[in-house]
Amino acid sequence: KKAIVIGSGLGGLLTAAQLGKDGWSVDVYERLSLIGGRFANIEYDGCQLSTGALHMVPHGVKGPLATMLRELGADFEIVQSDPMAIVRMPKNPEDADYKNGYEDISYLDFKKHLTSKNKLMMVLLTFGFKIGLIRPKKTGFKTWYSEYIQDDRIDRCADSFAGWALSTTADEVTTREMFEIFHNVYRYGGPGILVGGCQTVIDELVRIVSLYGGKICTETEVTKIIVKDGKAAGVIAGGKEMAADLVISDIGHKEAWEICEIDGVEGESASHVLALSSPVFKEYEDKLAEMKPSAGLKICFVSDEQILPDGCSLMLTPYTRRINGLNEVTNADSGLAPPGKHLVMCHQRTALDRLSAIDEEIELGLEDVRDLFPDRNIDILMVQVHHGRWPVNRAFSGTDFGNKTPISNLIVVGDGAKGEGGIEIEGITLGVRDALKIIRS
Ligand code: FAD
Repeated sequence: KKAIVIGSGLGGLLTAAQLGKDGWSVDVYERLSLIGGRFANIEYDGCQLSTGALHMVPHGVKGPLATMLRELGADFEIVQSDPMAIVRMPKNPEDADYKNGYEDISYLDFKKHLTSKNKLMMVLLTFGFKIGLIRPKKTGFKTWYSEYIQDDRIDRCADSFAGWALSTTADEVTTREMFEIFHNVYRYGGPGILVGGCQTVIDELVRIVSLYGGKICTETEVTKIIVKDGKAAGVIAGGKEMAADLVISDIGHKEAWEICEIDGVEGESASHVLALSSPVFKEYEDKLAEMKPSAGLKICFVSDEQILPDGCSLMLTPYTRRINGLNEVTNADSGLAPPGKHLVMCHQRTALDRLSAIDEEIELGLEDVRDLFPDRNIDILMVQVHHGRWPVNRAFSGTDFGNKTPISNLIVVGDGAKGEGGIEIEGITLGVRDALKIIRS
């Protein structure tokens, strides 16, 4: 049986490898000359920068991605961050400016900075959640906890974590999703950095896809998904019609839906006709309209001196203007930068209404870098803005809506079809796992 995968991002390649292993004949079509989407390395000035990700696997060696890669026989190495994270706190709680002194603490010591009442409240809420007494749903996380705890330090740390991990504020994520995320941190553990960066995983997946006879065609854009009698019959790729029994979209729900040609009717008009005629299509279209991408900004720099302690690759920065956190990736793999250089990738959430003032956002991020490391010799390598069709997340975490489309053999994987509580590529892996269940059933 023939499967066509649109897009060679992590979700597309994981699915292609698994389908190949299951005996499908698989073709992957990628519109760019580069394979890997937002999870590939870009070499610049001797450093391994990236097309998106900060070379980080959110749940490290025990997480869903590492587990699936091992099942596929991939060769890769992840170095766990130990401690999981350092949090930079101002020396004086009354003075939020790092310039006037700061202290780097392990995330485990954060509790020590809270009042006894708030410490107790946090223990009770966590315990209540663990034993199932607390099941909050759609309220924003911050709105929910603010009913029980009011503390500026917690607010800032919650925003810093959400900004760094999800490119949202703590209130743009539902309480349910945030609890699922915490649950996964307990279950699988914290983050690690890939030795060799994102590219190692992509190279291994390319090897595994071809091992099972799959083909990856670059510079081949899919311009149409042909739907006949309610089923995906194939695609137009690189101008040619290709038949398939199964079509996988790694380009998101919206993007796939826009290129569907249904019984000869194309694009918006096709979906509009269907939306009017069937409640299933109408419901799908309504959900698509609600899906919002999250944007972000990445600043990469090198320094002559190491910034974080040995073994730790992650710092959360709750008291900056914009930067939410940073990964010092050379603490895990010194080969990601030239000898003697330390490579740092900073991430900041960007509110969608600030994209029109992106130069100001970049300057605020650069000011943060200067304030965080005033006495370091820092060389800014690259600033990247991620939004629109190359976002941080195709859907705000917690608003993904599964793999199914109204076309039974058109399945969506990747970002925008992440599994519950799955941070970024871990969510993509959980989503691929769910997609495979649908396909195999
Ligand atoms: P994508 O990477 O979006 O790939 C889709 C592919 O489809 C692309 O290559 C595109 O060119 C191709 N395509 C599009 N349209 C067509 C078409 N019509 N025909 C053919 N091909 C097409 N995640 C982490 O886990 N850890 C991190 O450290 C991390 N940091 C991040 C930092 C930033 C700044 C960003 C932007 C993202 C980060 N992420 C991180 C998220 C992670 O990079 C993405 O979730 C993941 O790479 C998305 O994979 P995907 O499968 O959805 O596909």
